[in-house]
Amino acid sequence: MSLKGKTAIITGSTSGIGLGLAQSFADEGVNIVINGFGEADEIEQNRAAIESKGVKCVYNGADMTKPNEIVAMVEGAQEEFGSVDILINNAGIQHVAPIEEFTAAKWDAIIAIILSSAFHTIATALPMMKKQGWGRIINNASAHALVASPYKVGYVAAKHGIAGLTKTVALEVAEQNITVNAICPGYVKTPLVDGQITDTAKARGISEEEVVRDVLLAAQWTKKFVTPEQIAKLAIFLCSDAAENITGTTLSMDGGWTAA
Ligand code: NAD
Repeated sequence: MSLKGKTAIITGSTSGIGLGLAQSFADEGVNIVINGFGEADEIEQNRAAIESKGVKCVYNGADMTKPNEIVAMVEGAQEEFGSVDILINNAGIQHVAPIEEFTAAKWDAIIAIILSSAFHTIATALPMMKKQGWGRIINNASAHALVASPYKVGYVAAKHGIAGLTKTVALEVAEQNITVNAICPGYVKTPLVDGQITDTAKARGISEEEVVRDVLLAAQWTKKFVTPEQIAKLAIFLCSDAAENITGTTLSMDGGWTAA
């Protein structure tokens, strides 16, 4: 079955992996709701570039810390496009600090943006997916949904939470042609990781080159960053008929990181 004409909401898609997902799904003929923060001009340029692929693309600036804005975004997409067929929870932030220095505000923001936002998008989109008897929910998690690293307590806790959310919802909707999965990438070179390189260098007292070699890619046995295009190809496969029995699982794309 072709994905042409379906509609996808991709949270956090003004940058990095989310933007890559939006472009790749548009290449498949999927209408897209992009979301996230950034400069208005740049967002409009990206939106127009996606639309130039022959699909409809709208921008919704819902803040993933605000449940009412999240619900309005999903309901708005359902009204505008008639359905939400594919939901990709991708928005995320990172903060690197030892737990004693990890502020409650950072903890709350990370849990809200990564974990609670996915609860709200899924809970709002599911009635429509159930009604139409088809849906694909993909949570862009992380290797940190499966294993920990020091100084990332908020992120690791939120991503482990996403794994639990994925499994639970998958069971609840298993007989309704709706699959729910989490992709668990290793390191992808995006603005989020660029920020971490700086922060980790400070936290560990080492150079940025040492962070890339000895911290980020140390665990990635292929010694290659994952790319947004590779993640998008897996996400598109998860939306295919061949993937109808893949549900409730975490799919690693981490260069062997979590095998060791
Ligand atoms: P990024 O910083 O390039 O993109 C993050 C996106 O989330 C941006 O569009 C940003 O505007 C948006 N966002 C942040 N706060 C938001 C909020 N309150 N409301 C709405 N949108 C918000 O980062 P990225 O690396 O592309 O990360 C995307 C996802 O992939 C995250 O969930 C991240 O945890 C996950 N991930 C990234 C890597 C990596 O190495 N880059 C690895 C594994 C998983």
